[in-house]
Amino acid sequence: MLTFTNRTALVTGAGRGIGKAIAETLARHGVTVICVSKSADSCGAVAAAIVASGGKARALAVDVADGAAIAAASEALLKEFPTIDILVNNAGITRDGLLFRMSESDWNDVLTTNLTSCFHWTKLVGRPMTRARWGRIVNITSVSGVMGNAGQANYSAAKAGMIGLTKTLAREFASRSVTVNAVAPGFIKTDMTTEFVNNPEASVKILEAVPLKRFGEAADIANLVTYLCSEEAGYITGQVFNVDGGMAM
Ligand code: NAP
Repeated sequence: MLTFTNRTALVTGAGRGIGKAIAETLARHGVTVICVSKSADSCGAVAAAIVASGGKARALAVDVADGAAIAAASEALLKEFPTIDILVNNAGITRDGLLFRMSESDWNDVLTTNLTSCFHWTKLVGRPMTRARWGRIVNITSVSGVMGNAGQANYSAAKAGMIGLTKTLAREFASRSVTVNAVAPGFIKTDMTTEFVNNPEASVKILEAVPLKRFGEAADIANLVTYLCSEEAGYITGQVFNVDGGMAM
C-alpha cells in the first residue's frame, strides 16, 4: 500500500476516461479528490460515486480553456482547502487534421485546453504547494508529444510543450520538495479513442506499432500516476514515463 498522509488532490478531466480512473484510484488510497471537468454532470457523477463508496471527493465544473474561470475557481477552492498537495493536469482534447487543413481555431483550442490550462492551474495551486514544502504535480502528456504524429500538429505541440513545462517546473520547485513529472500514454481505451478502437481496420494498423499488441486501459495510467503522487516517489522528478505498450521505445 502506498503512503498518503491527509492529502488533497485536484484532477482535471476527472469526469471520464483516464482522469476518472486517476481520481478513483487516488480516492481508494485515502486522498480527498477534487474532480474537475467541463460538464458539471460528469465530474458530479464521479465525485458522487467516490463518496458513495466511502471516499472523499468533491466536484468542480470549470472550463480549463478559460484562464479567468480557473483563477476564480482556484481562489474559492483555496479558501476551502488551504493546500492542495497533488495536482494532476489531465484534461485534454483533440482537433485532428493535417497541417494545411488545420484552422487557427483548432490550433488555438488544443493549445489553450491542453497546455495553457497547465500553466494556469500550476501557477495558482503551485504557490501554496511550494509554501507547504511538499507537493506532487503530474502532467498527462502523450506519446504524440514524444514521437510526433501526422495529423496532430496542434496536439503534439501542446503535449511536447507539457514536457518542457514539466522539466522546467521540476527544476524550479525542487528546493521545495515539490516533484513534477509527466506520463505519456499511448492508445488507451477511452471516449477519446473510441473511433479508432472500435474500427477493426484502424485498430489492426495501430496495434502493429504496439509491441504488447493491445490497447491500454485507463487503470494502466492511473496506477503509475498514483505511485508518482505518493510519499514513496519523492526522489523522482522531471521525468517523462511512457505507458504505451512499448510504442515509443
Ligand atoms: P476523454 O475520455 O475524452 O476525457 C477528457 C476529460 O477532459 C473529460 O472529463 C472532459 O470533461 C475533460 N475536459 C476536456 N476539455 C475540458 C475543458 N475545456 N475544461 C474542463 N475539462 C475538460 O479523454 P482521455 O482519453 O481520458 O484523455 C485524458 C488525457 O490523456 C488527455 O489529456 C489526453 O490528451 C491524454 N491522452 C489520452 C490518450 C488516450 O489514448 N486516451 C493517449 C494519450 C494521451 P467533460 O467530462 O466535462 O467532457
